[in-house]
Amino acid sequence: MTLTLDYVKAKSASKLHGLHPVVRQATERLIERSFACGVPILITQGLRTIAEQDALYAQGRTKPGQIVTNAKGGYSNHNFGVAIDFALLLPDGKNVRWTVGPAWMKVVEIAKSLGFEWGGDWKSFKDYPHFEMCFGLTTAQYRAGWVPSEIAMAKALVVINREDEVEMKEELAKLTKRVDVLEKAAERVPAPKWFIDEFGSGDLGGVISDPEFTLEGWRTLAVGLRVGKI
Ligand SMILES: [Zn+2]
Repeated sequence: MTLTLDYVKAKSASKLHGLHPVVRQATERLIERSFACGVPILITQGLRTIAEQDALYAQGRTKPGQIVTNAKGGYSNHNFGVAIDFALLLPDGKNVRWTVGPAWMKVVEIAKSLGFEWGGDWKSFKDYPHFEMCFGLTTAQYRAGWVPSEIAMAKALVVINREDEVEMKEELAKLTKRVDVLEKAAERVPAPKWFIDEFGSGDLGGVISDPEFTLEGWRTLAVGLRVGKI
């Protein structure tokens, strides 16, 4: 199957619930821009409740399985809606891949350009699928009930929307150029030299009172006159 952006976004929709609104916006851009680069992704984790975090922490310690986190409930930024995890979505639209290769690193690059911090950059416990956007607050501060400041959120939004603005300006410049070309093409001009050479004058010896047409108009007139000559 060929994956569409709508399909890819819908696959991750449930994991976006409960995220901080700015992080949610950044995550949506991440899905879109990765897709545009040919790398569909799945958000595998967004907000995680304290109880869910405790259950995850138990995995590989008091419960079977591999250790996947070093954070107890309240000690992960997932618990405050400012972190996400991702995986590469395979072309079947169902299965995922966790291989840290070029496609993975492309997503990391896009995420960083959106202002996310990558868990793969951490020194002690490398968390390759993990991104977080903390607005300058520590997990301890979130735990104590702090919320991101207006200014920190505004700054984050500028970074998130930066690329869109650049693209929009480029599109606008292209459009303006195109309109210029179209307007020039539609400009009414006196008879071009080739018309006068062929038919003697622009007003055809006084037949046309206001001999100004577009270049296309002169060509059409010439075709009509040539047919009429026969
Ligand atoms: Zn994570």
